[in-house]
Amino acid sequence: MALLDVQDLVVRFRTADGTIHAVNGVTFALEPGERLGLVGESGCGKSVTSLAIIRLLPKPAGRIEAGRVLFDGDVPSIRRLAMACPAKPTCGLAMTHAERALPRYLAELEREGLGTVDVMIRMAGCPNSCSRPPTAEIGIIGYGKNDYVVMVGGARDGSRDGPPVRCHRARG
Ligand code: SF4
Repeated sequence: MALLDVQDLVVRFRTADGTIHAVNGVTFALEPGERLGLVGESGCGKSVTSLAIIRLLPKPAGRIEAGRVLFDGDVPSIRRLAMACPAKPTCGLAMTHAERALPRYLAELEREGLGTVDVMIRMAGCPNSCSRPPTAEIGIIGYGKNDYVVMVGGARDGSRDGPPVRCHRARG
């Protein structure tokens, strides 16, 4: 079985103005070590497909109406929900290595027995915040070598940033 197996995924949004057919029968599989880019014009369903896979469709409007999303093995929730921006070396603006640092942080949390905690952690390599850390429950933004701002309390549906009063800068 593939690491990630998406079969005939169908996603609909029920709105006051009618039903939005956001994703219609998407199928793909991903093996360990493989990477897949979803490419398409704006509004074609790329983001909705991704949100459906990680079970973050906006409720109650968004629903998986058909198809299956299968993970091979148990992906701890703390990893399933986490996101880092590409940062170095793929982005010239990166001041920190978000894509390398975040897996280390997640591994540390798992060692402490926190892998199944239902919390979203997002990390960005610079204040541009492409991975939207302020709207995660724990957001980490890199400002320089070993220099991060940590924000706590954002809403995962994007409706609220982490309160600035809870921000602090961590070094070391
Ligand atoms: S947050 Fe900064 S480092 Fe990360 S992808 Fe965006 S611009 Fe690049």
